[in-house]
Amino acid sequence: MNSLPAKHPLQRDFSPEPIGVATAMLESMAFPYELPALPYPTDALSPVISEKTLRFHYDKHHQAYLDALNKAIDDTEFQAMPLRALIRTTAGKPDKDVIFNNAAQAWNHAFYWDSLSPRGGGDPPAMLKQMIEASFGSVQACRQALTEAAMSQFGSGWAWLVLGDKRIRVVRTGDADNPMTRGQVPLLAIDVWEHAYYLDYQNRRKDYVSGVIEDLLNWDFAASNLA
Ligand code: FE
Repeated sequence: MNSLPAKHPLQRDFSPEPIGVATAMLESMAFPYELPALPYPTDALSPVISEKTLRFHYDKHHQAYLDALNKAIDDTEFQAMPLRALIRTTAGKPDKDVIFNNAAQAWNHAFYWDSLSPRGGGDPPAMLKQMIEASFGSVQACRQALTEAAMSQFGSGWAWLVLGDKRIRVVRTGDADNPMTRGQVPLLAIDVWEHAYYLDYQNRRKDYVSGVIEDLLNWDFAASNLA
């Protein structure tokens, strides 16, 4: 009878985390939209993001955007429209602002959950790293640009890593806005609405932003969005 080889003491149980599942799940849904599954347990991002913050953010805030979106598109032609198309179609139209804001926030949050990982931080995969170095000089300079975007966003909004005009760029958007409405490809998102950090950090946005960028950013997800 064969016996299993003894496990090397340094070998950890490793189940690779699926990449981009929340966004993919949300985009594959038909009306009415429901919360997409989180890619990790609610305590997995602690201590940078506490379980309490994650639960409020996911169970209450993200759910509220989905509920408001479902209510806004019920019995309209937008019910049958894929979510990305809905966001692009309603962007910049004042009479569609309720639909746009809730659709974009529903998508932005799924994308944000996928942008974070308990195994995040470190360096991007090789091809993305080369593209970042071509744009910023170094990965560290890119991290600095993300920090500055997240810190300089006045009020609620988002800091993004995007692909635009064949270059990796850092941009920020206010409220629900999303760079896909300007033809850019989102690669990573950092939520800088106060609800993302206030329970843990109060007014110390910088501590939240630094923790996310150093320890949680999922560079494999960013690279997967280049395809
Ligand atoms: Fe949020």
